[in-house]
Amino acid sequence: MNIKEIIKKQKYIFHFNVSTLEQILSYCQITREKNVWLCLGASEKERNYLGSERLKKIIDFEREKGAKVFLNADHCKSKESAQEALSLGYDSITFDMSHFSFEENLRITKDFVEYAKEKNKDIFIEGELGNIKGKSEVIKESINIEEEDLTDPYKAKIFVEETKVDALAISVGNLHGISTITKPNLDFERIKKIKELTQTILVLHGGSGIASQDIKKSIDCGINIVHINTELRICWRETLEKVLQENPASYSPYEILNQVVISLKNKALQIIDFNF
Ligand SMILES: [Zn+2]
Repeated sequence: MNIKEIIKKQKYIFHFNVSTLEQILSYCQITREKNVWLCLGASEKERNYLGSERLKKIIDFEREKGAKVFLNADHCKSKESAQEALSLGYDSITFDMSHFSFEENLRITKDFVEYAKEKNKDIFIEGELGNIKGKSEVIKESINIEEEDLTDPYKAKIFVEETKVDALAISVGNLHGISTITKPNLDFERIKKIKELTQTILVLHGGSGIASQDIKKSIDCGINIVHINTELRICWRETLEKVLQENPASYSPYEILNQVVISLKNKALQIIDFNF
C-alpha cells in the first residue's frame, strides 16, 4: 500500500506529528485497532530530537507488528534534510521551499523531484505553495493572513505541472498552531479552484484550530491530507501536567507516560472518528 492508493480508497488521510514514543505508541495502536491508515510525520526539529534513522526503524518495527502508518519527513526546509529522509527510505517528503519566490520554489522543487524519483521511484513528494503562517503551538497573538499569503490557483497549476510533485500543500486561510485570537477562515472556493486546475492531492496544514465541520467541508472541496499537530501537543502537555500533579509520589515513567498514551489515543480517535 502507498499513500496514493490509500487516498484513492479512503479519499483522505490524517497526518499526525510525532517526536516521542508515547505519540507513536498511541497512534499505531489506533491503526491496528481501527483498521485505518495514518501518516506520521516529523519536522526537522522533531526528527533531530528522536534521530531520523531511529524514527524510521521504530516505524518499521511498528509496521511489522501491523501498524498501518506512513512516515513523512515534514517541512524539509533544505535539500540536505530531504536527502537524508530519502536515503533512509521515508515514504514521503514535504519539500517546503515556500520561503522562496515562486520561480525559485518551482525550480528547486522541480530539481529535487527529478533527483529523488531517480533514487526512489516510489517516493511521494509534496511541494508547498503559499505562505502558511504561525507555528505548531498555542499562539497568544493575532495572525493576519493577507491575500498575498494565499495560494494562487493558476500558479498552483503551473507549479504542479512543472515540478511533477505528487501533492501540494496550500495556503487557504489555514495557519500552523492555534491562535487564541485569530480563528482560521478557510477559503473553500479557492480549494475547489486549486483542485479543479491541478487535479492533484491537496494537503491542509494547520488543521488543529479548524472546526471539524470545516475540515469535512475542505475534504469535500478537494483536500486529501489533513495535518493535525498542535491539538495533540496540547493534549500531551496537559495530560502530563495533570498526571504529575495528581501523582506527586510516582517515579515510574511507564505509569506516568502510559496515561499520556491513553489520552493521546482518545484525542486522536476523536479527531479521526468523524468519518471512519
Ligand atoms: Zn505544516
